[in-house]
Amino acid sequence: MKPTELLSIIIPFHNEQEVISECQRRISAAVAAIDMQIEILYVNDGSKDDSLDILIALMQQDKRIKIIDLSRNFGKETAMTAGLDVAKGDAVVIIDADLQDPPELITEMVKIWRTGFDVVYAKRTKRKGESLVKKATARLFYKLINKISDHEIPENVGDFRLMSRQAVDALNQVRERKRFMKGLFAWIGFPQTAIEYSRDPRLAGKTNWNYRKLTKFAIEGISSFTQEPLRLATYMGFLTAFGAFALGLFYIIKTLMFGDAIQGFPTLITVILFFSGVQLLSIGILGEYIGHMFIESKQRPLYFIKKTYSAKADD
Ligand code: UDP
Ligand code: MG
Repeated sequence: MKPTELLSIIIPFHNEQEVISECQRRISAAVAAIDMQIEILYVNDGSKDDSLDILIALMQQDKRIKIIDLSRNFGKETAMTAGLDVAKGDAVVIIDADLQDPPELITEMVKIWRTGFDVVYAKRTKRKGESLVKKATARLFYKLINKISDHEIPENVGDFRLMSRQAVDALNQVRERKRFMKGLFAWIGFPQTAIEYSRDPRLAGKTNWNYRKLTKFAIEGISSFTQEPLRLATYMGFLTAFGAFALGLFYIIKTLMFGDAIQGFPTLITVILFFSGVQLLSIGILGEYIGHMFIESKQRPLYFIKKTYSAKADD
């Protein structure tokens, strides 16, 4: 009997010509034993290399492949969203194209999903092939965001996960433009559980991340998920106002007791610099949030699909 349940596998990719065929081979082998219909959904996030052509060729051999070609590079978060919008599966898996996420885990994820979990995410125990600095900064980021945000974002968890239809439908209703997916995955709730694996280094090609992008990602993640930094500005305001008051009092008393010799340039310049710093920082924080409002208020669509490739006639 043909299985009736559908499993969608979403693979967002950007310039992955070195790995994309191997990715398809590994995924195809990994899901062979799963007793479900399979839909393999590649989302081309504006690749400038031959990845798309390679995939179109692969599609002739494997009818389960479907390709969504976005109009430009929108970033992985948005590419995943496009995939989630199009996927029809009863269960949906998101996986990287560079084979850092082992597709062999999908079988296990499906088993756990069948026991009633809506989200099965993969938690990495080791991060091979990543520098100490990257690991340390990642740690710091999770510590920070979990300290100040109300929704626990699990550490060492990437986007590699399985979600039930119900969880995907929930996520698809969240249309904010600054999509901090790790936060959104946590925010939707539903019964979630982890399976552990050790993360391999990239098979080939190079990461699309650099420290500039990661910093931007961290700031956006925090500012789109918590208002705590705004409060920080308020606290700093209180604290410095109190400090200024105490200092003022000190100088008044000092002047009354000892008279006023023209002195105190170091104090003056220190205080001025300190307050300018606090003010600029606070304005910067405000700016982040106003920026979010600016982007949201334009109500732009999240992405555009240039073309959909599918070997099947019905979709
Ligand atoms: N990716 C994407 N759009 C981008 C950048 C990356 O779709 O703008 C894809 C990339 O092809 C890969 C996945 O997202 O399949 C993870 O990217 P990468 O390996 O660069 O990130 P890392 O594993 O270093 O976190
Ligand atoms: Mg990678």
